[in-house]
Amino acid sequence: PSQKDFLLSVEGLTVSFDGFKAVNDLSFYIDENEIRVIIGPNGAGKTTVLDLICGRTKATSGSIKFRDSELTDLKEHQIVHKGVGRKFQNPSIYEELTVFENLELSFPRGRNVFGALAFRRDAEVRDRVDEIASLVFLQNQLHTPAAILSHGQKQWLEIGMLLIQDPTLLMLDEPVAGMSVGERLKTAELLNTIIKDRSVIVIEHDMKFVEDIAHRVTVMHQGKVLSEGSMAHVQNDPKVVEVYLGH
Ligand code: ADP
Repeated sequence: PSQKDFLLSVEGLTVSFDGFKAVNDLSFYIDENEIRVIIGPNGAGKTTVLDLICGRTKATSGSIKFRDSELTDLKEHQIVHKGVGRKFQNPSIYEELTVFENLELSFPRGRNVFGALAFRRDAEVRDRVDEIASLVFLQNQLHTPAAILSHGQKQWLEIGMLLIQDPTLLMLDEPVAGMSVGERLKTAELLNTIIKDRSVIVIEHDMKFVEDIAHRVTVMHQGKVLSEGSMAHVQNDPKVVEVYLGH
């Protein structure tokens, strides 16, 4: 191969809403085991980029290559099946169900419903739920109704519900918004643990959190990449300083 193998290659991605280009000829590349943070002022197109990758919004032009698959041709559920998980800003947990039940419901279902297999699966599912609950700091809340979890715990539960599906690419929209400092630090620890098996794209405004997690930062402005590189690099980029101070 003449080119480096990226996990995700976004090239020339454009989407227009009534002639307005919310994402405008955008290109970026994500490595395996990378945490990439996308920052940028409101309206820069960050959320739209995640919508495009997960198939919620269809591109006007450009390509999104994930391993060997072109995602722009696929439907949302097919993209999930390829191993792309997306967490939205508002948690979509079942409040009346327990932590265990929420995780159990998210376990990927096989098509085989024969009894013996289903029985063996029960134990497998329980083990996996326990493993994921520990990972997201909820091992002592397994039988707690989701409704009475703290805001931060609800965010972790939802991350757990995605992790139990073992995505290769996990996308998170402002995961630490509204969290305490302690919860924010634990979330950073969580992300740094889970990237052993996957890559993560995070949209984030909390710069302390960005510093704790970002391998690289992509700064978006008006649908384009304004700057990209290490946190130190983008922070000192005059183009970035101008956009942030100009607001
Ligand atoms: P960010 O996440 O960086 O704040 P967004 O991706 O939400 O930015 O939005 C980028 C621009 O695209 C905004 O001007 C927004 O109003 C516009 N936009 C996003 N989605 C739609 C849509 N479905 N229809 C029309 N305009 C949209």
